[in-house]
Amino acid sequence: MTYLDYSATTPVNKEVLDTYIKVVEKYPGNPNSLHKLGFEAKKIIDDSTKQIQKLLNTDKEVIYTSGATESNNLAIFGVCNKYKNRGNHIITTHLEHSSVSESIKKLEQEGYEVSYVKLDKNGRVDLNDLQELLTDKTILVSICSINSEIGIKQDLKQISKVIRQYPKVIFHTDATQIIGKQKIDFSDVDLVSMSAQKIYGMKGIGCLLKNKNITLEPIIYGGKSTTIYRSGTPATPLIVSLAKALRLAIENIDSNYEYVKKLSDYTKEQLSKINTISINNTDNSIPHIINISVNGIKPETLLHALEQEEIYISTKTACSKGDDISESVYELTKDKEKASHSLRISISHITTKEEIDYFLKKIEEKIINLQQLTK
Ligand code: PMP
Repeated sequence: MTYLDYSATTPVNKEVLDTYIKVVEKYPGNPNSLHKLGFEAKKIIDDSTKQIQKLLNTDKEVIYTSGATESNNLAIFGVCNKYKNRGNHIITTHLEHSSVSESIKKLEQEGYEVSYVKLDKNGRVDLNDLQELLTDKTILVSICSINSEIGIKQDLKQISKVIRQYPKVIFHTDATQIIGKQKIDFSDVDLVSMSAQKIYGMKGIGCLLKNKNITLEPIIYGGKSTTIYRSGTPATPLIVSLAKALRLAIENIDSNYEYVKKLSDYTKEQLSKINTISINNTDNSIPHIINISVNGIKPETLLHALEQEEIYISTKTACSKGDDISESVYELTKDKEKASHSLRISISHITTKEEIDYFLKKIEEKIINLQQLTK
């Protein structure tokens, strides 16, 4: 199998799985129980929380969720419901994951005003436009750290400098695609979403980091869990395994990045030799995500043709609706043809050159075959 869909999800690291199983067996208690078993489970959760804060170099509160979708929903609805007396204006981009954009669209239907900040040619937020959009009615700015389709990275520090001129505005970033790929400083952001399943952790666990000076209206009620913001019995094994996944993901972050960069440059160079392919990445894309458009061939058709060779890639993101064009690619290229023919190849530090060569050989063959069929 040639798996090139790491931005959709990553396989679980064996060490993370071992930790998960060990904790399932050793810590059966409910962390909210008052007896010894509860105390032991609570202690290991508290240790994991401290470890996560240390690894991310933050003192933000850690709210455990089922993943980044829930973290994004909690951040967006949590802020807007809590601070609706302050204003009704939200600023975001056309590069967001559907769990951000759909949440914001829902709020728009409820009467919130939504502005989409302009991007420069490399997909970076236009800071002057952001400055102009901010008003006394703005309560939330939600901008992803890295876009999941084209891999565009934003400069959170510069964005935050503009936002901080309005001290009441809350800044949220969906950091799902950056955690474990590049070191990042979240000190300028109020709310940060992440998910374990993108960093070789288990599916079903993520968190929202929250600055202590802000509060949120919960979206799930039912009494205190590890925090007051998300009820439910804390998932001890998942929480401990999240801390483990994070530690492993951060351990060799710089060398892993360099490896992926070289492999990605090679892949893009080879892909650009195929004349029906255009590469949609910009100078600001991280190397892990390669986005291409293949002229004249339906992305689903090519995806399934590659699947026959056990090569796995994505059309758009795994979570977006399959029936429309890629909003991110369209926003950058303003080209409907490209935006409706885009494919994402996402690679990892565990991707080998052999896998890439096999993929390159097969994609070229499949394109030629499909072109002949349509003649
Ligand atoms: N945000 C981004 C940027 C993502 O790539 C994803 C996963 N595709 C999510 C949010 C949703 O994550 P989860 O599936 O863990 O809810």
